[in-house]
Amino acid sequence: MPTPKPQMSKSQLIDKYGRQLTYLRLSVTDRCNFRCYYCMPEEGMDFAARQELLSFEELYRLSAVFCDLGVNKIRITGGEPFVRAGIIPFLRKLSKLPGLEEITVTSNGSLTKPQIEALQEIGIRKINISLDSLDRERFFKITRRDKFEDVYASIFQLIDSGFDIKLNCVVAENKNIQDILPFVELTKDHALAVRFLEEMPFNGSDTFQLPQWSHREIYRHIQDQYPVLEKLQSEPTSTSVNYQVPGYKGSFGIIPSFSRTFCGTCNRIRLGATGELRTCLYGPPVTNLRDLIRLGASSEQVEQAILGAVSNREKDGFAAEASYTPSKHESMSVLGG
Ligand code: SF4
Repeated sequence: MPTPKPQMSKSQLIDKYGRQLTYLRLSVTDRCNFRCYYCMPEEGMDFAARQELLSFEELYRLSAVFCDLGVNKIRITGGEPFVRAGIIPFLRKLSKLPGLEEITVTSNGSLTKPQIEALQEIGIRKINISLDSLDRERFFKITRRDKFEDVYASIFQLIDSGFDIKLNCVVAENKNIQDILPFVELTKDHALAVRFLEEMPFNGSDTFQLPQWSHREIYRHIQDQYPVLEKLQSEPTSTSVNYQVPGYKGSFGIIPSFSRTFCGTCNRIRLGATGELRTCLYGPPVTNLRDLIRLGASSEQVEQAILGAVSNREKDGFAAEASYTPSKHESMSVLGG
């Protein structure tokens, strides 16, 4: 059976497996003020030179092209988005982009407090905060920054200010297993969602130990303590399988980010801070949209480049990973998560 040609109407990004890509993860910087062990080496990494980063005008122009192609949700990521000066005026302008229904943000929470009013005024409601431990010392060991109090305080300031907060916790042996149950217990009195992620190889180094804690182990660990758990309805494109302890205000979810059990409904496409387009987190950069526009490409030519990339998209994260063997693992702060 010849592979069916993807029905690419002008405004839709549908791959040959019938998945429509409507969600852009847009990285605005590769820089971060933290040094999480699962993301980059302690000494940091060779951050891109300023002129290599997409300017806010370029980020806006490319976002407009994606929205023309049916993208209706943009997640602002990094590195740490709030280390980039000028981010708020950019978000304000972006929020008015035709076709864009939602802007969400992923942050380490250390710089969000001063931005609360501006984010509210722009209409950004959903923020994912990376928090891997509820213990100051373990937090320090994981992030190599003594910022637990700041991050913890800003989480509750955001909640009190009406933001929809999700906490992302990367689970790893010898790092934060003791935090899993306290995180679930945190959802007793707080209407927030805690998501437990499997460790991924994007640590900016040439070594990666296979995760010992898969989504199954995490679930079993929680179920041993909470035998009765309600499974919650989730969006078809959700990467998280969500649960609630009966009577608790909040919920928790488990994201099989290494096991990649959710690729069948993946609606995500990624644009890195230096213009690299990825159709899968585990795959190679397919083209560089920054270079294209700096060479004078029209929006139509950029559209064709994106459509072309999507038409060659791999079936899942395993196929994407198999097609890409970099000399060392990329850092999550380059990929934008
Ligand atoms: S691994 Fe790739 S295909 Fe699978 S959900 Fe993630 S980005 Fe999508």
